[in-house]
Amino acid sequence: MANVKLEKINKVYPNGFKAIESIDLDIVDKEFMVLVGPSGCGKTTTLRMIAGLEEITGGKMFIGDVQVNDVAPKDRDIAMVFQNYALYPHMTVYDNMAFGLKLRKFSKKEIDERVTHAADILGIEPLLSRKPKQLSGGQRQRVALGRAIVRNPKVFLMDEPLSNLDAKLRVEMRAELSKLHHDLDTTFVYVTHDQTEAMTMGTRICIMYDGYIQQVDDPQTIYDSPANKFVAEFIGSPQMNLMDALLVEENGKVYAKVYDRLLELNEDKAKIVKEKGYIGKEVLLGARPEHAILDPDGIKAKVEVTELLGSETYVYTKAEGRSMVVRIDPDIKVSVDEEISFKFRSEKVHLFDKETELNICK
Ligand code: ATP
Repeated sequence: MANVKLEKINKVYPNGFKAIESIDLDIVDKEFMVLVGPSGCGKTTTLRMIAGLEEITGGKMFIGDVQVNDVAPKDRDIAMVFQNYALYPHMTVYDNMAFGLKLRKFSKKEIDERVTHAADILGIEPLLSRKPKQLSGGQRQRVALGRAIVRNPKVFLMDEPLSNLDAKLRVEMRAELSKLHHDLDTTFVYVTHDQTEAMTMGTRICIMYDGYIQQVDDPQTIYDSPANKFVAEFIGSPQMNLMDALLVEENGKVYAKVYDRLLELNEDKAKIVKEKGYIGKEVLLGARPEHAILDPDGIKAKVEVTELLGSETYVYTKAEGRSMVVRIDPDIKVSVDEEISFKFRSEKVHLFDKETELNICK
């Protein structure tokens, strides 16, 4: 069993800075949990507390059934992979991978078996006698992973392990890490600021902001049903569009009035906003670019930029002073300064409370 449980964990640095405010997180055995959020949100601090590299100020941390607040990193049965690989430059790949096992007094035979097995999984057998400086960035990252794999840990902790790689290699390594997770069948906790990495690799994603957890869910749920405005804007590229909307009821139907146009809400949303007393109130309406439909009766907007991606086109527009992005079919040609009109699929829009910024219908 290698679940990791954080109970009311907080962290105050010696200078008095509160980096983490009472977070609860239950990382299930064998899942790939991604901690994601903007710079400074506290994800590295959280990972380092799990690793034992950072003291926990308050709360309880469990790995498996053992409370580990006071357990030294080497006794936590975890392995950490860092952004900068942290390889020993004077040692061969083999020795880099074997080093931790030698310290732990494993037999030569056992070390050899483990290093060979890890090298096989990662496809780096031909590199075992090289030194780190003779390797590419991607190969070094594999060695760093290999060094973690040979330890056979209960939990893998990874802090932005792909951020030093170029874009193409990053995409390849994303798929490899997912496969590795599947093959090793072990708990992974992975820190990144990159929402695409989070969405593509995580079995669940923990979105953090300003020392707090904003939402923990599987990627699709987070995308389809963001808990609040922050999550809605953070996940998804290009970002979700946000507009002021007034909720009104006419002849038993509920509409969001946006730029003087009425968007009828579906029954589920209508019921919720009525029950929660939002009729007659201003809310924020969120709509993803791919949920726009060109419609002559829709919101009028002026095209500022078009981004042709081959399979789709994103059109960056301005509507009544607000920037809005819509995705259109690449066969439809629009030009800069042209006026287009669109509306959003009403079953796909999100409504957020203007003050709390929480998703009203979640
Ligand atoms: P990044 O993506 O930039 O690494 P992060 O989300 O991982 O960001 P952390 O490194 O966990 O953020 O830092 C969280 C907050 O704690 C930041 O505001 C940071 O400045 C602060 N912090 C980190 N280490 C210390 C320290 N040793 N002393 C004081 N404050 C610190």
